[in-house]
Amino acid sequence: MNGWAALDTELERWRRAGRVATFWWRDDDAAALVPNLERLVQLLAPIPAAFAVIPGRLTAETRRLLSTGDVAVLQHGFSHDDHGDGEPVELTDGRPLAVVQDELRRGWAALSATFGKQALPVLVPPWHRIGPKIESSLAAWGFSGISRFCPRERRMQHGLTVVNTHVDLMQWDRPPRFAGEQQVLDQLLTHLQARRQGEVDSEEPTGLLSHHRTTCNASFALIEMLLNRLSGRDEVRWVPAAAAFGSG
Ligand SMILES: [Zn+2]
Repeated sequence: MNGWAALDTELERWRRAGRVATFWWRDDDAAALVPNLERLVQLLAPIPAAFAVIPGRLTAETRRLLSTGDVAVLQHGFSHDDHGDGEPVELTDGRPLAVVQDELRRGWAALSATFGKQALPVLVPPWHRIGPKIESSLAAWGFSGISRFCPRERRMQHGLTVVNTHVDLMQWDRPPRFAGEQQVLDQLLTHLQARRQGEVDSEEPTGLLSHHRTTCNASFALIEMLLNRLSGRDEVRWVPAAAAFGSG
């Protein structure tokens, strides 16, 4: 069975069980405006998408684009600089906690002043890495949610609502490349099946993760096919980030 037919079959199982498969979309690394960001905002207009914005690198053009769209804004670290000495990491416990706190606070102040209610106090750690000390401080610093990759272990952790992504459109080789249709559909099917069978938290919406900067034409084409395939089905619902994180 090809990937599309397998996806149809899986969704049919959700429908027959009277269940609704929820989805959400997160795109990372919004900073300076690039044509790919405009293209993606347009392509995702039919669904409620969330953009993880790097506050320290946000430009006026990107600010304008995202504030005119019906999108949610999440905080993607502060500057997306690598402060690690091995695997890339911005939010490392190797830096003084007060410095990290100050940067995240300034980042949130900028996003909330710019985007108002579009901005959610949800942190998306760059490279999905975060030091345990920082993570356990986030709720006290005003964050209410966190989003990384892989099925969540529990809905609440360290006082934060966890809503992750599960389907990565990129394959993180050097250089990064489009994961390809089969791999994307496999990830989608794996998470849907695991939810339906109760192997992971079935309440966590299946999160699709894109990186507009490295999105190629083939990847854009797949996004369009996916949106078409998932539209108009009673057993499919796209969830706004505000609802997924429990603030809307
Ligand atoms: Zn990033």
